[in-house]
Amino acid sequence: MPGPLVLAVEDDAASLAAVAHELRDRYASSYSVVATPSPDEALATLEDAAHDSEGVALVLAGARLPGTAGIDLLEHVRALHPDAKRALLVPWRPSEDSPTAEAILDAMALGRIDYYVRRPAASPDELFHHAITSFLLEWTKVRRSAPHTVHIVGETWSGRANDLRETFKRCAQPHAFCLADSDEGRALLAGAGADAKLPLMLLPDGRVLSDPTNREIAEAAGAPVDLEQDDYDLVIVGAGPAGLSSAVYGASEGLSTLVIDDGGIGGQARSSSLIRNYLGFSSGVSGGSLAEQAYEQAWVFGAKFVFMHEASSISPAGQSLIVTLADGRRVRGRAVVLATGVSYRRLGVAALEALNGAGVHYGGPISEGHAMKGRDAYVVGGANSAGQSALYLARYARRVGLVVRAPSLDAAMSHYLIRAIEATPNVEVMIRTAVVGGGGDGRLQHLVLRDLVSAAERTVPADGLFVLIGARPHTSWLPDAIARDGDGYVLTGQDVAAAARWPLERSPFSHETSLPRVFAAGDVRSGSVKRVASGVGEGSVAIQQVHALFEAAARSADHGSRPDRASAA
Ligand SMILES: Cc1cc2nc3c(=O)[nH]c(=O)nc-3n(C[C@H](O)[C@H](O)[C@H](O)COP(=O)(O)OP(=O)(O)OC[C@H]3O[C@@H](n4cnc5c(N)ncnc54)[C@H](O)[C@@H]3O)c2cc1C
Repeated sequence: MPGPLVLAVEDDAASLAAVAHELRDRYASSYSVVATPSPDEALATLEDAAHDSEGVALVLAGARLPGTAGIDLLEHVRALHPDAKRALLVPWRPSEDSPTAEAILDAMALGRIDYYVRRPAASPDELFHHAITSFLLEWTKVRRSAPHTVHIVGETWSGRANDLRETFKRCAQPHAFCLADSDEGRALLAGAGADAKLPLMLLPDGRVLSDPTNREIAEAAGAPVDLEQDDYDLVIVGAGPAGLSSAVYGASEGLSTLVIDDGGIGGQARSSSLIRNYLGFSSGVSGGSLAEQAYEQAWVFGAKFVFMHEASSISPAGQSLIVTLADGRRVRGRAVVLATGVSYRRLGVAALEALNGAGVHYGGPISEGHAMKGRDAYVVGGANSAGQSALYLARYARRVGLVVRAPSLDAAMSHYLIRAIEATPNVEVMIRTAVVGGGGDGRLQHLVLRDLVSAAERTVPADGLFVLIGARPHTSWLPDAIARDGDGYVLTGQDVAAAARWPLERSPFSHETSLPRVFAAGDVRSGSVKRVASGVGEGSVAIQQVHALFEAAARSADHGSRPDRASAA
């Protein structure tokens, strides 16, 4: 085959001819385009392609096919080619054809298709091509052999090699890992030269880095590491959705803006394979794509970014604030937005802590899907992030166990996810169950599950464990002057006043912390709604308040008064 397969199967002869023409005309030089009216022929082609290294990029199927429904065929595609994008070919206004509309809504809700595509109405039909190229782009990003992939070779799954994988997971950089004693690892090592030391990093531009330093890793991940200046209007700590939103609004509204993150872009959202509830993305968007777009958007407005640097303290200095980085460097901002989010609580099982990165993972499974192909995976947690992760893993894994302490999923998971899980045969929901042990030889091989009602324990084979059991805010580095609630989340606005922690005469802004001119947005803020959209909204609100603060300060300066007078109390 000349390239990855793009397959269309459609009963309607005119529609099939139009689809075939559009696909061949635009993609035949890079993809192997096959168009057929026969579902049997389509399945035979897909089965043949299972032995082809190029893989299957996209399958389009008409809603009604001879002897089967397009949706059923597309579901079969998922079992054969979990990465392939799957879309239903529909008439111009699917919402007016009730059976088609219902089929789409149902299939989307249950994750049986990725989306729908309208049949081409003209040639060229750019609307059709827009949908096709979006699918092809998403498919390319997921493929391990995507362009610009960094290859990492390690002796074991854990240790320094795992640090490297974790770093790349948090950056906008495709990467692939293999063990040194695998066929691929041996080939990469042989090509790297006699001096190569593990872990080894092979960059897309041909450079080879032996046991690289953090700085080399950061540069390879495309993350700028140096501060260009040390004085800004606005310093944002955290480059998740809330921090990125603050950066877009701050920079676009003329504030000199610096964003600091101890990893890369996207925060937790990066570990989400498909965010379906973010406004404007009807077919969903991966957290990685959303973060990359937001980063570009902030960057073109002039925001500066420093990655792989942890903020370790913050202190007032006159009318400014000093943020100190873990390496001792300091930046000054007239205002600071804290958008440091949260990270997942640990299971607290020592045997499993030792296997962190070697089959045990905290957070979503987005970069581990392939590694779970044909294997047994477990997800611990009962909220939406756990449900989403289980569905994502079900595309690859032989079997997925969703381990939940609660008596049902209803308490913490959205209805649409519960429906999708119920309709996915290889996901087993284990209620009133806890993971209490596990182990393996250098890599996770088994788990011990306890039935919380009978206290009975059983050992099950397991290749992957993904833990999403609630969050802990990243606030331990903050000074006492920034008040927090009992769980460590940052208090803002009225909550600060109510806790009698506000030191000035003026009232705090609704997103301002107890340290004046320091704002908080997103998951880290006490009482916030833990969602991408809320984080993005809070980021923009915080910036509007930063402007109001600066304007008030400018007015006070004009009148010769002190902008922030301490309260008499
Ligand atoms: C698997 C998964 C699936 C999800 N799915 C959805 C979904 O479908 N829809 C939805 O709306 N929400 C979803 N969420 C929740 C959503 O991702 C979060 O609500 C959102 O990311 C919060 O954004 P944030 O910017 O407040 O914080 P975060 O995303 O947590 O980002 C905080 C950033 O700050 C950095 N940081 C922390 N401390 C420091 C420091 N001292 N110095 C420098 N940097 C620091 C962190 O490394 C991180 O990059 C999901 C979450 C997960 C894990």
